[in-house]
Amino acid sequence: MNRKTRTRFAPSPTGPLHMGGVRTALYAYLFAKQKGGDFLLRIEDTDQTRFVPGAEEYIIESLNWSGIKIDEGVSVGGKFAPYRQSERKEMYRKYAEQLTASGHAYYAFDTSAELDAIRKQAEAAKGAFSYDSTSRMKLNNSLTISKEETEKKIASGDHYVIRLKVPENTEVKFTDIIRGEVSFNSSLVDDKVLLKSDGMPTYHLAHIVDDYLMEITHAIRGEEWLPSAPAHILIYKFLGWEDLMPQYAHLPLLLKPDGNGKLSKRDGDKLGFPVFPLEWKDPKTGEISSGYREKGYYPEAFVNMLAFLGWNPGTEQEVFTMDDLIQKFSFAHVHKAGARFDPEKTKWFNEQWLHRQPETELASRLKSSLKDQFQFADNDRRVSESFLTKCVQLLKVRTQFENEFIEKGKYLFLAPTQYDEQAIQKKWKPELTIFFQNVSGVFAGMSSFTAPEIEITFKETAAANNLKPGDVIQLFRVFLSGQSAGVDLFPMAELLGKEEVVARINAALNHVK
Ligand code: GLU
Repeated sequence: MNRKTRTRFAPSPTGPLHMGGVRTALYAYLFAKQKGGDFLLRIEDTDQTRFVPGAEEYIIESLNWSGIKIDEGVSVGGKFAPYRQSERKEMYRKYAEQLTASGHAYYAFDTSAELDAIRKQAEAAKGAFSYDSTSRMKLNNSLTISKEETEKKIASGDHYVIRLKVPENTEVKFTDIIRGEVSFNSSLVDDKVLLKSDGMPTYHLAHIVDDYLMEITHAIRGEEWLPSAPAHILIYKFLGWEDLMPQYAHLPLLLKPDGNGKLSKRDGDKLGFPVFPLEWKDPKTGEISSGYREKGYYPEAFVNMLAFLGWNPGTEQEVFTMDDLIQKFSFAHVHKAGARFDPEKTKWFNEQWLHRQPETELASRLKSSLKDQFQFADNDRRVSESFLTKCVQLLKVRTQFENEFIEKGKYLFLAPTQYDEQAIQKKWKPELTIFFQNVSGVFAGMSSFTAPEIEITFKETAAANNLKPGDVIQLFRVFLSGQSAGVDLFPMAELLGKEEVVARINAALNHVK
């Protein structure tokens, strides 16, 4: 059967979405779009104890900001609505009951206190308890009591869960898109709870029922689900849905920058970079975690970086638009090993995307920031389009973030009030006063003040004073900008204009005297 490709992103609203989650969504989106298919957003909120207010909105906003468009699902609707599992609660029971009726699942009445006690006993004996084929016949469930007793218990309102009856010692195999054939012995799999005592399904049952009903063809998820995959394969088989089972792809873990261990939600600001797409304020503690958006990353850079965390195009190309990614993405180039996160490379991606921003747009955003920060008047030359476009050209090759323009290039807009004294001390000699007075005089007389003309004039004046450019050029930079490093010197002088350059040299001479 030729089915339309349908992928889904199925996060649980338990807090802010980790960047690893965005990567999962991204790969699912890229794959669906490449195949002309649909990308769905399903919210898996069956664990009500872990529900965090605002998390769902955060997930949707993160996808929107990243440019991952939802074709169907929470926030946009669709023909398989509702897409929030809590609102689908009533749909799952019948499948759990179908499994018990066919002997592939059973009712378990053990209370959590009873199970805890058994677990503790096992620990005391240096063992581990698992509810499975080795223990189920000694526990309180419909396999160990009669049918009548089971019915009586249920009718009298006893709490129960429905558990999957995992067969003993059989091989469970499936083909993972990334890992190829994967095989597990069923004895490693416990009798997973399918339906909880509150009537809610667990993830194990709910995602299968939903993937089936929503006609999902590829289930793309994190590696942490690989150990549960055999249970999932068995559920598909027992429900008779094997033919329609989506193909699973288990994505590699994201690792910390040093490669030691998983990049966790808690690593974030501790290691000096965000792990969340957007800033998040914890609704309980008020604690703020930083986000890529607020740090000044472009969504294109964030997505570009995420795409490369686990995938590569097999060529040298590194900068990809979303459309390029849709074209080039392939699971054949997704590796199995964990992907090490590199914060410096992430900045590099932002720099590449900064270079690709249209200059007029950069200039117009810079204009509003400048007006906010310095209250420049509308007719001030420093907020004119031509001045700002030149500023942007000079600054963008020296910065990684657009939001650093003003901080790094403040001297383009305001004369320095402080100077790098160390840089001055290194080169300054009182005799140089004459030279700088000379330069400022010659500059004042120039009828055209372009970068090449300024450069030639500056160097000729130095030669006439028996100086090498190296003796005075750094001082010239510090006099104009206050700093020893910054944008290209002579183009900066051209941009500042003759009067401003002359005024800044004279002010600096007063300072060094
Ligand atoms: N709700 C699961 C999670 O947040 C989804 C896993 C899946 O995509 O199937 O990890």
